[in-house]
Order: sequence, then C-alpha cells, then structure tokens
Amino acid sequence: MKKTDTHQYLESSSCHPYHCKKGIPYSQTLRINRICSNTKDFDIRCNDLEYWLKKRGYNEKMVRGEVLRARAFSRYDLLNKPPRVKKDNLLTFNISYYPQFRKVKDILKEIHILLTPNEEHKKVFPDVPLVGFKNNKSLKGLLVNSCLKNLEREGGSQKCNGRICEICNLIQETSTFSKNDESEKFDIVKGPLNCNSKYVIYQIECGVCHSHFPYIGSTKTSFRMSLNNYKSAQRKYRKKFFNNESVKGIQQHKFHSHYCNDKHSGIDDWKITLIDQFEGDLIKLRQRESFWQHRLDTFKHGLNEKEVPVL
Ligand SMILES: [Zn+2]
Ligand SMILES: [Zn+2]
Repeated sequence: MKKTDTHQYLESSSCHPYHCKKGIPYSQTLRINRICSNTKDFDIRCNDLEYWLKKRGYNEKMVRGEVLRARAFSRYDLLNKPPRVKKDNLLTFNISYYPQFRKVKDILKEIHILLTPNEEHKKVFPDVPLVGFKNNKSLKGLLVNSCLKNLEREGGSQKCNGRICEICNLIQETSTFSKNDESEKFDIVKGPLNCNSKYVIYQIECGVCHSHFPYIGSTKTSFRMSLNNYKSAQRKYRKKFFNNESVKGIQQHKFHSHYCNDKHSGIDDWKITLIDQFEGDLIKLRQRESFWQHRLDTFKHGLNEKEVPVL
C-alpha cells in the first residue's frame, strides 16, 4: 500500500444508493484477493479495509458481512473469471438519484404489464427497464469544471459571407445557444456550419418578441435551399393572410402565422442559429431534431406543432 493512500472511500453519509455503499467492502475485498498472492498479506489488508471503512462511518456488521461474502471466492477463480457478457439493447430508465426514488424499480415492475398488452409490444419491451441513477449536480460540480475549453475550436453557426447571400444577414454567428428562458446554455460542437451546410439542425427565433418563440427544423439538403422554401412559404402565407384568403394548404401554420401578427414584418424578424449536424445520416439527424425540439420545449414555448415523423 502506498504511503500516500488516504483511504478516501465514499463517506457512509453520502447521498448514494445503499447498494453502492454495500458494494465497496465487497468489491474491495475481491480486489485485495486478486492482488495478494500471500494469505497473510490478504488477511492484513482485509483487516485494514474494515478499519478504514469503519472510520468513514460504515456499519461494522455490514462491512464484516460483505468482506466475508467476498472472501468465499478463491483467488484462482477470481483471476480466471470469464468476462461478463453484456445484454444488447437493454432499455434503461435514467433518473437523477434521490433517496425516495428507490421504489421506482418496483413501480416499473408493476407497470411493465401495461407496456406489453400483446405480442408485438412484448418484442419491443421484452424486459422490465433497468433503473439507472445518475448524480445530481453538486455545488462543486456547478462551480468547477474539470474540462478545459478548446479556445481554438472552430465549430458553431457562421455566415457563409457569399457575395450575394441573402441568408447571411439572418444568421447568428455564435458557438452557443440557449433555451428561450435562458435557463440552459448549450455549446454548438459541430461545424463550422453555414448557409451552405447540409444535414443541419437549425433554430429560427423571433427577433421581435421577448420570449423568442424558437422553432427547430432540420434539412438534408443545403440549409440555403431549405430556408428558401420557408421564405417563399412565408411570403405566400402573408399574402393570403392579409387578403383574408384561406391559408389551409400551407404547412407550418403556427410558425408562419406568428410572423403575420402585430409588430412583425415576416422574414426580416427571423434570427437563425445552426445548432447541430449529422452528415449523411438522415435517421440520426431526425432523431436529434426531435431531441432538440423537446430539450428546448419548442412545442409549448415555441413554434413547432408536429412531432418529427418516424422514418
Ligand atoms: Zn450566407
Ligand atoms: Zn415574435
């Protein structure tokens, strides 16, 4: 054992699931068993482990029980254990850990029957989803970030600066974008993305309204081509709207009607950010488009009205 080892095992008072804490004496004993070829050393290290865990506030009886359970394995078996085979496509239900959520596993078991009313559904949900707990953000996590930002990164939303580009003046040059209530900020990791990029996901916001009314869309063709379609649809919509004609045939009614309201002047109000890209992969592009629509809540607080169709 290194002299510098400070035995910083997880504090027993820490807000972690009980099975995590119980797993520490068990897994550490297995580890010691694998490392120590000499039985005397093994005994000494196991006693040390029990001593340090008790010092960290662990229940003596629990620690003893787990150490004994792990000691039942022979060193030979541990060193020759075949690797664990992972099950494919296991559905995991991920939530932030909170002590009262321990019952979620039982609830999922109970309601699994609702997910499998017939054979077709049983194929999709063959097993009860696993419950995966993730850490809640701690004060330390909020204040300190161990990742160094790459200052030279060239990703983000940019203008193409083409001589006659009419889209550039609507594009926001930025490497981040936020939820419309500013509660969350995201980095644009792909790029540089500009008017000519393909397979992009874009956000069109209202430059007039205080709450931006975001709209998220995606295109496999160049963004320029896609936006030209939006522009011509907006012109058509405005013409019909102000002539009191029916606008029924025009798609994206919620989006286009917003820019015909008071104070709005149409296309000139659009503020566009290219936020993501999946080159050559239409399925991933559509999945990600749907992800951003929900993450930014653009159905409730923005101008999206229909879910992305499943391909
Ligand atoms: Zn441009
Ligand atoms: Zn507006």
